Amino acid sequence: MTKISIIGAGPAGNYLAYLLAKKGLDVNVFEEHKTVGLPVQCTGITTSYLGQLIELKKDFVINKVNKARIFAPDSNFIDVKLDDNIILDRARFDQYLMEKAENAGAKFFLSHRFLCYKNNIIKIQNIKANMIKDIKTDYLVGADGPLSDVAKSAGLKCKKDFLIGIQARVRLNNQSIVEFYPFIKEYAWVVPESKDIVRIGLATRKNPKKELDKFLIKRLKKYDIIDMQAGLIPMYNPKIKTQKDNVCLVGDAAAMVKATTGGGIIQGMIAARALADSIINKKKYHKEWKKAVGKDLLIHLKMREIMGKFSTQDWNYLIKLFNKENTKKILKSYDRDFPSRFLVKLALTEPRLLYFLKYIF
Ligand SMILES: Cc1cc2nc3c(=O)[nH]c(=O)nc-3n(C[C@H](O)[C@H](O)[C@H](O)COP(=O)(O)OP(=O)(O)OC[C@H]3O[C@@H](n4cnc5c(N)ncnc54)[C@H](O)[C@@H]3O)c2cc1C
Repeated sequence: MTKISIIGAGPAGNYLAYLLAKKGLDVNVFEEHKTVGLPVQCTGITTSYLGQLIELKKDFVINKVNKARIFAPDSNFIDVKLDDNIILDRARFDQYLMEKAENAGAKFFLSHRFLCYKNNIIKIQNIKANMIKDIKTDYLVGADGPLSDVAKSAGLKCKKDFLIGIQARVRLNNQSIVEFYPFIKEYAWVVPESKDIVRIGLATRKNPKKELDKFLIKRLKKYDIIDMQAGLIPMYNPKIKTQKDNVCLVGDAAAMVKATTGGGIIQGMIAARALADSIINKKKYHKEWKKAVGKDLLIHLKMREIMGKFSTQDWNYLIKLFNKENTKKILKSYDRDFPSRFLVKLALTEPRLLYFLKYIF
């Protein structure tokens, strides 16, 4: 039977393990941490599209929000209706996916670190026993996050650009509205975890702690931090190589992240679905994942490049344009996972938005 080794028990690796094990393949998942899902390095907000990938359970869906407020530097804002966005308990979510994969027959090896790969053999370190073992494998999948050791070892390393994401969980009575500040550093957010706790954070290229402190003071003045989390957010690169012979990359390991918001859970899972289909039905993975999420990831990247050149006046102008009834109506149907389905409609409704295309050139 085809033997598949998946490195990394995050959403991309676990979902892939579930889909493959369900089809009767021999799947082993190696995760270096002793507990799946920990430490949490994520805000855990996704669109309702998650429900099309996996059954949503109360166990890991801890809140739902249906309104976002996008701010301009002059403090004007627009309210955008969201289609029941989901707030995850990210650790429980990863663990749920692992349980599903295990029930389908996948085997998990926790506290096991991937070291290297050569000629269909992976070297795995059992951290607790301090032992190193060679394991023969037919397929190797790097679902091992932004710094992917699999990519390095298999010669799939490509120049990657990273942002640093940092957030604090803070006590704050709130009205269940997501706040988004696209002009603060790369972008900044306030996401309600519950009625009295928010996840407040930002993505930046440098000084993450200092920038977060500044944002906390600006937004809250006084605050009570419960805990803090941080991690790397890879910037999508359309030139990334995701397959070499029988080695593939998926999720953050392949930088499958929306460059405008840092969201990568759904994109990694959609690509995992494309990978499972490619392994089972002998399709070309690179072509399949590009077809499923490549175009939208590229649009996010282009939007990011344009937004990176905005002045304060540009942001104020953009929010003003979005505040018109006709554009608001279109924003209501905006699914940020798939901007390709919506951008042309928006530009046709508000042609003044084309003003910002000057930043492409
Ligand atoms: C601050 C922050 C906030 C974010 N907020 C959101 C959000 O709100 N919504 C959203 O969609 N996305 C968000 N993201 C991005 C999201 O967290 C990632 O896109 C997602 O976790 C990618 O999943 P993955 O399975 O590809 O990788 P990961 O979740 O990174 O999982 C990789 C796994 O591989 C393991 N691993 C690594 N190296 C090895 C090795 N050598 N051997 C064995 N195991 C190894 C790691 O321990 C880890 O468990 C955020 C990211 C950050 C940093």
